[in-house]
Amino acid sequence: MTSTPISIDLQYNGLREAAASFVFKGDTGHVLIESGPLATLETLKAGLVEHGIDPTSIKAVFLTHIHLDHGGAAGWFAENGADIYVHPFGVDHLVDPTRINESARRIYGTHLAEVFGEMLPCPRAKVHAVAHSETISVDGLEFTAIETPGHARHHHAWSTVINGRQCCFTGDVAGMRIPGTSWVTLPLAPPEFDPAIWGQSLDRLEAFDFDELQLTHFGTVENPQDHLAATRKQLAWETRMVTEILDDPSLDHEARKIAYLDALHARATAHGISQADCDAYLSAGMVDMNLGGVQRHLNQLRKASD
Ligand SMILES: [Zn+2]
Repeated sequence: MTSTPISIDLQYNGLREAAASFVFKGDTGHVLIESGPLATLETLKAGLVEHGIDPTSIKAVFLTHIHLDHGGAAGWFAENGADIYVHPFGVDHLVDPTRINESARRIYGTHLAEVFGEMLPCPRAKVHAVAHSETISVDGLEFTAIETPGHARHHHAWSTVINGRQCCFTGDVAGMRIPGTSWVTLPLAPPEFDPAIWGQSLDRLEAFDFDELQLTHFGTVENPQDHLAATRKQLAWETRMVTEILDDPSLDHEARKIAYLDALHARATAHGISQADCDAYLSAGMVDMNLGGVQRHLNQLRKASD
């Protein structure tokens, strides 16, 4: 059985409780869920050292998906001997991240290094594809993959038993929370965002009836079914709201961003969250990303029905 993991706050974007990496103690060493991005690798290594763990001794890293904020730094651990476990669609990108880095450079330009950093390559022999419902045993620990697409096609949540409780590490499929609040927000990232498929992934997680969720962005959820219901509600609301903004011919791109941010602010206020916190955690970058993700999804839907 797994004992309680340590959650290391990566202080992503200089914010507290915005992104985490989880450290598990095995029989002889340690294992991570999520490496975080390259931009916070030094923070993660310092956090490990603080807990008496040599970062070069990490035996395995389980990734929920290969977006830069989850798997960007996995290559450093792989170079130091860790085995990397990921959805089959993620393997080639981890081995050769050229395309991921090119598209990140296109989107983030000169800000890429400070926002995420590039994805580091992993030696092929260290990267292992894991299928849905497959259980991986490492160093006396066991993690089961739950395929959960919608945010990304290659998304796994990882479940394990911690002190007798069924726990699920949800990556991005169960959304994000601003610290100290229960409002669920969502990264509707291009190019693979699909709300219908995301909804099926939420069905799948609900069916497990977990005792606890652990969100990468961020923290412990003690009431999984309520949280998953809130995630579903936010997914429907945000997809509808963004679609209406995108379909309004009177709005140019800047006006769309303002309309979206206004809607988020109103929703945040209704949940007792300040505009400043809303802006810090759902910065303009998220607004741009979500507009792009929904637009791309709508284009595909409309192309398919032509
Ligand atoms: Zn993420």
